[in-house]
Amino acid sequence: MCINKDFRLSTFDYRLLTIDYLLSTIMKNIILCGAPGCGKGTQAEFIVAHYGLVHLSTGQMMRREAASGSELGKLIESYTAQGHLVPDDITIRMLEEYISTLPADTKGLIFDGFPRTLNQAVQLERLMKKRGDETAILIDINVPEDELIRRLIERGKISGRADDNLETIKERLVVYHEQTRPVDDYYELHDKYARIQGLGTISEIFGRISRILNKIY
Ligand code: ADP
Repeated sequence: MCINKDFRLSTFDYRLLTIDYLLSTIMKNIILCGAPGCGKGTQAEFIVAHYGLVHLSTGQMMRREAASGSELGKLIESYTAQGHLVPDDITIRMLEEYISTLPADTKGLIFDGFPRTLNQAVQLERLMKKRGDETAILIDINVPEDELIRRLIERGKISGRADDNLETIKERLVVYHEQTRPVDDYYELHDKYARIQGLGTISEIFGRISRILNKIY
């Protein structure tokens, strides 16, 4: 952008500034929450296709880093392979880095697998406030535990994921109840919580999510 010698902006510069401003939309994000195997990833793909949001799965982010073989990746794998959470400082740093690379006109994010601790939720809201963005709603996908285990065991046969075995699945469920459930309470307290039934066909479940999202987007 060119600035006049006397540091006043030309009409053309003002126009560019206005265009920049209009393009930098406020991001309205949604959080998909629920136990491992509840279908967050599957539903996120449908939401991306229908609402033009960007899918951010911290689990995928972790697996990508682990597959790179980096030192950080090895450290991450030492937690994920046991079904434990990666420490908050690592997760939040990776997430912040990713968000800073998003185009200014990003409509919103679908957080899948984040926030997973109360501390992550507080940090997320702090970051959103700093950026002028907001969390529109947390959608909690509810599935009975025996069905979750069945789905994860089935997935393990194809996915080859090191954490999709019975012992690690049980540990992930314990971690979910102890560390992630309080995140639901946090958003419920802030009137940003919706719970849906996660049993049924993929499109039935997407229909339930759409009824919520159509009021937002
Ligand atoms: P699932 O929901 O099926 O358990 P994910 O793909 O979301 O699987 O996550 C896989 C693993 O990656 C988790 O068990 C955990 O070790 C790590 N992970 C993912 N997201 C986070 C997060 N927000 N905080 C800490 N660890 C995470």
